[in-house]
Amino acid sequence: MAVERTLTILKPDCIRKNLTGEVIRRIQEAGFDIVAMKLTRLTKDTAGGFYAVHKGKPFYKELVEFMSSGPCVPMILEKGNAIADFRNLIGATNPAEADEGTIRADFADSIGENIIHGSDSVENGKIESAYFFSEADIVAVKS
Ligand code: ADP
Ligand code: MG
Repeated sequence: MAVERTLTILKPDCIRKNLTGEVIRRIQEAGFDIVAMKLTRLTKDTAGGFYAVHKGKPFYKELVEFMSSGPCVPMILEKGNAIADFRNLIGATNPAEADEGTIRADFADSIGENIIHGSDSVENGKIESAYFFSEADIVAVKS
């Protein structure tokens, strides 16, 4: 299977609930290599830009406020079939609909505050990664 990269963000609720370590442990246990990682805090502008595709939707303002409400941890992850496998690991957007054992089913409180982001395509993963990281921030882990 082709090696892919996905951009994830441990959202502010994940950090507030002291779940950073547990979620990273699950990600690594599932076979993802972390190739870039940092702790940062989004402004309303950067959060709004990241989620620009949702602009105009009823939840957009709440989403921007939530994503800028505290520190978050963006990471670039690498693995064969990373995009689809990571979406399976985190579960459906709405934790009430997420499969048992997924990160969102286990830890998320609501459809808005759902612990973690995952890119929905290789192309969007590249665009999203560029929001947080430059090429020089990406570490080769296999060689
Ligand atoms: P995903 O994060 O699973 O790719 P979307 O791209 O549809 O989901 O939405 C982006 C984020 O916006 C979600 O993770 C969630 O935080 C928030 N969101 C999506 N739909 C809703 C909703 N109906 N009400 C509140 N927040 C929402
Ligand atoms: Mg999405």
